Amino acid sequence: EEGRLLTTPQEPPRSRYNQNPLILNDQDIKIEQAQRPSRYNPNPLTEEQKYRILFKDLETLERKLKKYGWKGLSRKDQEELGLKRELVELYEINQRDKTNAFKIDQNNFAKEENDRKKSTFQKDDKRTRQQLWEEQQLGNSVTRSNTDEICLPESERYEYVFDKEAMIDFTDNTDDMLEDSNEEDASDEEDEEKKELLTQLQTEIDRIKTVTDSRKLLPVYAFRKELMEAVDKNQALIIVGETGSGKTTQLPQYLVEDGYTQGNKYQIAVTQPRRVAAMSVAARVSDEMNVVLGKEVGYSIRFDEKTTAGKTILKYMTDGMLVREFLADNELSKYSCIMIDEAHERTLATDVLLGLLKNIMKKRPELKLLISSATVNAKKFSAFFDNCPIFNVPGRRFPVDIHYTLQPEGNYINAAITTIFQIHTTQPLKGDILLFLTGQEEIENTREKIEEISSKLGSRIPQLLITPIYANLPQEQQANIFQKTPDKCRKVVLATNIAETSLTIDGIKYVIDPGFVKENSYVPSTGMTQLLTIPCSKASVDQIAGRAGRTGPGKCFRLFTKYSYENELEAMPRPEIVRTNLSNTVLLLLSLGVKDLLNFPFLDKPQISTLTKSLENLYVLGALNSRGQITDLGKMMCEFPCEPEFAKVLYSAATHAIAGGVLEQCLSIVSMLHETTSIFIGSKKEATARIVSEIDSDHMLYLKVYEDWKNSNYSRSWCQDHKIQYRTLLRVRNIRNQLNRTCIKLGISEKNLILMGENGVPENLIGSKVTKSFVSGFPLNIVQLKSGGYQTIGKSKGGLNVNIHPSSVIFQNQKEKGKKLDKFILYQQLMLTSKEFVRDCIPIPTGTWLVEMVPQIFSNLN
Ligand code: ADP
Ligand code: MG
Repeated sequence: EEGRLLTTPQEPPRSRYNQNPLILNDQDIKIEQAQRPSRYNPNPLTEEQKYRILFKDLETLERKLKKYGWKGLSRKDQEELGLKRELVELYEINQRDKTNAFKIDQNNFAKEENDRKKSTFQKDDKRTRQQLWEEQQLGNSVTRSNTDEICLPESERYEYVFDKEAMIDFTDNTDDMLEDSNEEDASDEEDEEKKELLTQLQTEIDRIKTVTDSRKLLPVYAFRKELMEAVDKNQALIIVGETGSGKTTQLPQYLVEDGYTQGNKYQIAVTQPRRVAAMSVAARVSDEMNVVLGKEVGYSIRFDEKTTAGKTILKYMTDGMLVREFLADNELSKYSCIMIDEAHERTLATDVLLGLLKNIMKKRPELKLLISSATVNAKKFSAFFDNCPIFNVPGRRFPVDIHYTLQPEGNYINAAITTIFQIHTTQPLKGDILLFLTGQEEIENTREKIEEISSKLGSRIPQLLITPIYANLPQEQQANIFQKTPDKCRKVVLATNIAETSLTIDGIKYVIDPGFVKENSYVPSTGMTQLLTIPCSKASVDQIAGRAGRTGPGKCFRLFTKYSYENELEAMPRPEIVRTNLSNTVLLLLSLGVKDLLNFPFLDKPQISTLTKSLENLYVLGALNSRGQITDLGKMMCEFPCEPEFAKVLYSAATHAIAGGVLEQCLSIVSMLHETTSIFIGSKKEATARIVSEIDSDHMLYLKVYEDWKNSNYSRSWCQDHKIQYRTLLRVRNIRNQLNRTCIKLGISEKNLILMGENGVPENLIGSKVTKSFVSGFPLNIVQLKSGGYQTIGKSKGGLNVNIHPSSVIFQNQKEKGKKLDKFILYQQLMLTSKEFVRDCIPIPTGTWLVEMVPQIFSNLN
């Protein structure tokens, strides 16, 4: 028993609530403590009893009301209902929490005004029945004043080790442990009563949670008036609040309700760093506003827009999309309010937006700018916008116990899975688990493993409901994470850091944090972007821990040591702008007429070397001339809703004297390359074998898949037969249509037709033309075969040794079919994991193609 979890220096005490104190069941203990008088609740039992009786009566009446309607009630019932509602409300007012003061950084606010606000706020703050009960049961023993901090009660005293043995060990003992928690359920009469009350409350909460009512339960609701006054008085306002307090879903609705759109005249834009968040929040808000998604409320993400011209007033969009809107209208004049949400994530697009917005604020004094952020960074944003006020919405967050491993974990996935089953088998139900992982592949693999173990355990454990969430997950599956966990079941959400702040999932009680994140890192000296798995920052892991304390006290299991937390983690994540390739951004800013990049108002200045490198890259692509001015080609590239490199591919495929005439093919390939992570069901190799016996490159494979599907009349059954994801191909088709429209608009489709000639490009030339087009777009993504294998060229002097990723058809051709090695290979992605891998490759048989297409770089090629 003791081998499983080591507790140091002393074991948690046994109690009647927890006979088997492997993990301290702190919630029970707190309920026990909650019976003690405190200044919030001097006489807990009698107060509670009173409330309980009152509440029960009221509930019966409300139920009657629901069933028979107001007219169906007797006079007496009507009177009683009114009276009891009032009493409950009175009780709530009495109980309201006075310490949770309304804080607002009054950089610009006079102090008296602030005081006045404080008093109005207190009158308005009626706590809900649910909150009230929660506070009674739990809050009394909790210091409520420092809501911004994660409490670490006893974390010094208890540390857990996740021993690999543990999993095997505890699977044998599952029945015992379950019995334990069952016994506990029935053991205590008082406990039983509480449970009953809890069930009643749950019914009540469920009833209350009609959409409109649940809006009023959110923390921002209490500040609606003050918030809107602050918006009215200030052009820019920073809003800080716990995740789940209602910033994203509510504030924009308040703006609509308060007439900021003047009917249909103006729109409100809300930006999100993530596509998933933009879509799912828009869906939620259209629900709350009781409108059809895509009409009054819509969203806009790259390659997917759901809005209606003249009708949409509230638009959720990715930050990148709003940046692009500057191209069409550089003062964003159709918007009356812009909310930059999750600004603390500091994506490149958010940083660029902030700079661009700062520039137009003076020209558009009536424009309102809201910036919502986690606590970190708020001061920095305020300073950036001339010390605008920071509005702090006090959140409700319960204490979160934080546990560390005693030793560093070699395999965090195994450790995470072990922890999931430890929690599941030792902790009573109700309490879902959220596990953070670094990406889609990791999530899908982990999910399989968990399902395997759980099916082996069968009925010995309560059911586990595994729901993944990551950016590429089909939309209808994304919604699963929000679904209420069925009874006798525990939900396990496997998420990327998407769930760190932008999505709020109710019911999470346990968070498992391996402490890693995938981060793009650009090295200007070599011009390469690496996708690295790196340790999270302190700010992120604290944010992640907070996810456990949203609906009640929670636990966070960190799969790293306390020492590592204290000594090894960076304080903050690095903003994207200092670690990413800036070619797109530079091109965009130049085409917006920003000439002096060095003095553009960046929140954090990018590295000069990165800027220089971007200018160089753009010059190589022909987007800039030798004086650094944007060329016509550069302006065209900006028009494309894709990276300038892809735009260049399409441009060459349509217009280049040697490579031209293959625009149609390249459109399909480029579109497919946008969705490579979710094309195949199961292994790519298997699917490939079903489609084609021999193919030279990943690019041509993608082309073949798309064309075969097209020839099947875009049929679903073709996809099923060939193990291809139908939905992904639908998205690809959509991307292709948009790129195609751009080509037509820019007149390059016409040129392509001319180069195609009357009979089209001969079959045997298509492959080489496609390859050459890609060389012109990605001249820096090329590796050369040297004596020690493939090495990067055209970048740094030394050259980096790389391997071809096993998923590539080139790998299969070379390793499995024994084909001769190609001299050069162009790749789309370089991944640095255990080895350097290149992905999505196309072979280039001879160096002359390189010289032909990009003489600026390859003229000296040997
Ligand atoms: P914030 O932006 O402050 O983090 P949100 O406005 O995103 O908060 O969320 C407010 C509340 O709305 C959450 O606590 C959650 O209960 C609910 N909510 C948000 N999005 C969804 C959704 N897609 N489905 C169901 N409930 C949601
Ligand atoms: Mg939000």
